Amino acid sequence: MESAPRPPIGRFAPSPSGPLHRGSLVAAIGSYLSARSRNGQWLLRMEDVDGGRVRPGAAATILRQLTDLALDWDGPVLVQSRRNDLYRAALGILRASGHAYPCACTRAEIQAAGGVYPGTCRHGLPAGRSPRTWRLRLPDAPGSWQDRYLGWQQGRNMGDPVLLRADDYFAYLLACVVDDGAQGVSEIIRGADLLPFTATQRTLQQALGLPALAYGHLPVILGPDGRKLSKSSGAAPWQGNAGDAWERALRDLGWAAPPAMHGASAPQWRDYALAELRRGRPLWDGAHQD
Ligand SMILES: [Zn+2]
Repeated sequence: MESAPRPPIGRFAPSPSGPLHRGSLVAAIGSYLSARSRNGQWLLRMEDVDGGRVRPGAAATILRQLTDLALDWDGPVLVQSRRNDLYRAALGILRASGHAYPCACTRAEIQAAGGVYPGTCRHGLPAGRSPRTWRLRLPDAPGSWQDRYLGWQQGRNMGDPVLLRADDYFAYLLACVVDDGAQGVSEIIRGADLLPFTATQRTLQQALGLPALAYGHLPVILGPDGRKLSKSSGAAPWQGNAGDAWERALRDLGWAAPPAMHGASAPQWRDYALAELRRGRPLWDGAHQD
């Protein structure tokens, strides 16, 4: 007899570089609904490992937005900038196992090589050069995986990524994978703009002996100019009340809500969406994307 599947542990991990916008809202609501509709946990993490991008007050704004949206999270909010000891320990493991190696190359040298790191230091530092960064040794062939919404995905070779930067900041890649492992996360639901990084994250999970996670990538919301919304490009934060933000996020996921729901409060939208998912409605029908 098969045992019942364990409830999922999902997470939302914004970087506090600005308020949530329409695109990050879809990731927040999507990851919340996926976990909660199966009685799972939903964790929250501030990805502020890149100190240069952090804006004062943005983390508090994001927490207030999530509260307004009636998206309740489990446990304390994890803050990456306080966890450098963990990332350092993980890098030590990767160094000892040969998965991480020192690299002397400058940004200018990599640009000159076409922008993708060509693996110059993979087999040792060139004579007379000293290490600037630490990189993850990727397999020769990028891995593939089954995405929950997009189906079978084949990773692309993006060059061995940096784990520890020249300015001594740990890379998002390392912090994200270490924290997902430490928090026991079992599924990652996020925007498809992060799809190119999934194969590398899976490689790093394996190198650290962490279990494989389920991935589901949601549609990327484009601005009126057809470009991806992002905090750094100055996209406006979502406006209007939280119920309207829910309605728009569900529309972005392809839902046509009944007209009677128009004007509902955020908790009413949340409960409506959870009930629909428990009845078997897909969060996003990725197969029908254009
Ligand atoms: Zn190098």
